[in-house]
Amino acid sequence: MKAIGVTRDGDEPQLLDVPRPEPGEGEALVRTLRVGVDGTDHEVIAGSHGGFPEGEDYMVLGHEAVGVVEEPNGTGLEEGQVVVPTVRRKPDGETNEYFRRGEPDMAPAGEYVERGIVGGHGYMAEYFTSPADYLVPVSEELAEYGFFVEPISITEKANEHAYATREPFEWRPEAACVLGNGSLGLLTLWMFGQEYDRTYCVGRRDRPDPTIDIIEELGATYVDSRETSVDELPDEYEPIDYIYEATGFAPHVIETVHALAPNGVGALLGIPEPWDFEVDGGSLHNELVLQNKCLVGTVNSHIKHFEYAVDTLESMPEWLLEALVTTVATPDEVDPAFVDDAEQIKAVVEFDTL
Ligand code: NDP
Ligand code: ZN
Repeated sequence: MKAIGVTRDGDEPQLLDVPRPEPGEGEALVRTLRVGVDGTDHEVIAGSHGGFPEGEDYMVLGHEAVGVVEEPNGTGLEEGQVVVPTVRRKPDGETNEYFRRGEPDMAPAGEYVERGIVGGHGYMAEYFTSPADYLVPVSEELAEYGFFVEPISITEKANEHAYATREPFEWRPEAACVLGNGSLGLLTLWMFGQEYDRTYCVGRRDRPDPTIDIIEELGATYVDSRETSVDELPDEYEPIDYIYEATGFAPHVIETVHALAPNGVGALLGIPEPWDFEVDGGSLHNELVLQNKCLVGTVNSHIKHFEYAVDTLESMPEWLLEALVTTVATPDEVDPAFVDDAEQIKAVVEFDTL
């Protein structure tokens, strides 16, 4: 079957011919509809994040998928059911306490593989298999945009963890800011628009730019970090109650602390490489303590976050989904899906339609 992957001796994604997987016990065979590409895929392709499945000389890419059950294989799923797969799987099929508790998203490195990212083949192929427990059913109406469930679930988890830190007191946030105008940032900005009185999104682009158009269409304020750095947000605009970092730009972590309002929380999502820079550690420590500020790092997500994400996706406006999807490529002509320029927001590879 056709698959899009990277090989150990090549640095570009390419069309591969790989065996069609056979579902094992408890697994269903899924026919792939669409698979999204995000910043993490670009990091995997560049070799800065993730790694090949053990003993394999290629890895099938893709972790944001939607498909339709082809063979339920006795799992209780129905043939024709539209499903979205989660990303983490047991390493070598061996379970551990995190999977037993249903919290693989909290497992440390080595205690999981991530399909299409680290140690496991992804979903960018005509078919994939998955334990039925890791397939989240969605309605047929979501077949076209179901690949957005995975990235939205990342924010559902981040919000859950960030809000949990503010749970012990009467927190009344009004202003929220997303750092980053990539696809994760823009999806999150829409979600914040449903919750907060005032929203901001930080990028580093000149107008005209399609992401700035979306930011403004969402009623948010666009902030250019080349003119107003994140730690200047309180002076230029207002102190921010909730900041969501989705740039991978490491200095933003420190700047976030200064930009937060007292009692505010920052969720960190970016995955930077090692990066040395100078920090006033005293002020940072002082502000975190005396202003009850909090930073929380969060990665991946699991079933309940996917379920919340299905509800969120169902309420997203069609114009936004259409504006976010800038490329629909086919496996035979896949290169446009991996172009990462200012026009590209979300590219998808379409294997089939319902
Ligand atoms: P993208 O690379 O598409 O988006 C990152 C955005 O941040 C880009 O639009 C980029 O702008 C912007 N940016 C980078 N540096 C700055 C800066 N100094 N000032 C203003 N804007 C800046 O990635 P995604 O949206 O897919 O993901 C966002 C981040 O989250 C990535 O680091 C990704 O690895 C991470 N991630 C983490 C997950 C988790 O579970 N923790 C899951 C998914 C993603 P420009 O394009 O103009 O350069
Ligand atoms: Zn991702």
